[in-house]
Amino acid sequence: MTTPAEARIDLSAIRHNIALLKEHAAGAELMGAVKADAYGHGLVRVSETILDAGVSRLGTATLSEGLALRAAGVTAPILSWLLTPGEPYDEALRADLELSAAGVALLAEIAAAAWATGVTAKVHLEADTGMSRGGAQPAAWPELLACAARLQAEGAVEVVGLWSHFACADIPGHPSVEGQLDAFEQALKLAEQAGLGGSQVIRHVANSAALVSLPRARFDLARPGIAMYGLSPIPEQGDFGLRQAMTLVARLALVKRVPDHSGVSYGHLYVTDRETTLGLVPLGYADGILRHATGRVEVLAGGRRRAIAGRVCMDQFVIDVDDDVIGSGDEVILFGPGKDGEPTLQEWADNLGTITHEIVTKIGARVPRVYEGT
Ligand SMILES: *Cc1c(COP(=O)(O)O)cnc(C)c1O
Repeated sequence: MTTPAEARIDLSAIRHNIALLKEHAAGAELMGAVKADAYGHGLVRVSETILDAGVSRLGTATLSEGLALRAAGVTAPILSWLLTPGEPYDEALRADLELSAAGVALLAEIAAAAWATGVTAKVHLEADTGMSRGGAQPAAWPELLACAARLQAEGAVEVVGLWSHFACADIPGHPSVEGQLDAFEQALKLAEQAGLGGSQVIRHVANSAALVSLPRARFDLARPGIAMYGLSPIPEQGDFGLRQAMTLVARLALVKRVPDHSGVSYGHLYVTDRETTLGLVPLGYADGILRHATGRVEVLAGGRRRAIAGRVCMDQFVIDVDDDVIGSGDEVILFGPGKDGEPTLQEWADNLGTITHEIVTKIGARVPRVYEGT
């Protein structure tokens, strides 16, 4: 390791997780959610790995993420589902990206790009079945279907998918889940009646939490994200046998003795109560170590857990290592799978009052991703 820090990504853990998720899918296809740089694990390497491990499709939020995959030579089907007016849909169609639409205005824009390029647009229609985020409300769904059917008859679009998304799949037994499934089935029935329900149309609704807990949500395809990276979609129910792929490691930039009563870092939130040794960790809130982590999370250094001593700064924070023999350049593990006693990402998330998704997607671009395993 020649950099101050690195995020080690265990590709064999990701493969293990895909194998496990395929069992849950019981024959349904998997679309790997690789948005936000594959949840901070690296878009292209992760995509290549999961496709090789049996995932058949990729899903991204933005068009730019889909285009980046094509630029890297990825040829698998890709769906981009968070689109705004005026994006380069002609470029998207030439790149063979599948596009999600939840309204007639976007559908018309996509159709215009289809006429301009001569490429029939493959679209997935999104129904709002109760999350009130993306998707067409039930009142707008028939009009969207009619518009799509017309454009399909004209050859501008081909409806290849019908989908929705859960609000509470990670809260087992939440009444909205069954309600959303009922609403989704109703939306599918209307699509069928509009002539958009053939067997070539992929129906999909499940995220990781639904995939591992709700057989009724499988349909033709599931869209796991967090579980592929080995992080539990329902932490209250354990780890489901998933293996955390990311280990965040830094090398101490400086180690020094300081006297009793030394105030440490901005604001002197931490003051030594004895002569002690401090270590300087070269990662800060610009790298995704939240300022809010001050005093809340631990790291592993010299074989022992250490609290963050004082404020997390933009690029660095301090740990107190007592009288232990630790030198500059020694490795500190911020989080990992937990095998050597280091905190896991779930422990960090619990202590920070957030979910693991937020921590991994915030690890910054200064931290190289280094791949291990195959
Ligand atoms: C992010 C996302 C997923 C994956 O969610 P996880 O909870 O990480 O499994 C699936 N579908 C859509 C539409 C998403 O935005």
